[in-house]
Amino acid sequence: MEIEFIDSHTHLYDEAFDIDFNDVIRKCQEAGIKKCVLPGEDSNHQDALNKAADLYPEYLLPCIGVHPSSLNDNWKDELNFVKNNLNSRKYYAIGEIGLDEHFDKTYLSIQKKVFKEQLRIAYEAKLPVIIHSRDSTADIFEVMENCKKEGIKIKGIFHAFSGSFETYQKIKNYGDFHFGIGGVLTFKNAKIANTIINIPLKDIVLETDSPYLAPTPLRGTRNASYNIPIIAEKLSQIKNINIEEVAKITTENAKSIFDF
Ligand SMILES: [Zn+2]
Repeated sequence: MEIEFIDSHTHLYDEAFDIDFNDVIRKCQEAGIKKCVLPGEDSNHQDALNKAADLYPEYLLPCIGVHPSSLNDNWKDELNFVKNNLNSRKYYAIGEIGLDEHFDKTYLSIQKKVFKEQLRIAYEAKLPVIIHSRDSTADIFEVMENCKKEGIKIKGIFHAFSGSFETYQKIKNYGDFHFGIGGVLTFKNAKIANTIINIPLKDIVLETDSPYLAPTPLRGTRNASYNIPIIAEKLSQIKNINIEEVAKITTENAKSIFDF
């Protein structure tokens, strides 16, 4: 039986794929990737994302959301863009949303406000969220604590999870979460490998974050969803189970989140 995977986070609509988009999709299908979830970034990227999803309906699953790094004085327009377009077609999640304090904290208070507002939109629309958190753990908890107080329930994925086991446990207290694991797991001395040993497979989904974060030995090259089996193989080694089991459980997990 063919092994089947889901890529729960991939920007295949990125211009990096403009020259050979159809070839890339074919290679993904040949590699056993059954569906690819396309997280949104902002209003500037949504047309390209939707166009890709229209070319491969039921294969490329579109999402909508404003990435924290896309926020500046435009934030009201971006937030309205999500609200006004949410029902314009079927979207599978609100994302990617969250906080990013890695390069710039100028708009941190706006990031927090827009993150919380998108968590509310997702809750009201009964959609999962895809959360991006970079150097922001404490502030992410602050926002989720406020959501808890206001009765906003959260379901979704912590994308590119790289935290400790304690952080994993703490996140689980704030909602129905899965943890996106990608190419970083294959990097030499990746700390996440030690955490992953203790995180049950039922809480994990696979992702590439293409075109970024290509796994070893392809590190530094353009990543694409067909590299998911490399990540699955590494995960199977770390957890000492076979790759079929990794594929089966992570695919079930993705189905339960995105409801496809
Ligand atoms: Zn992403």
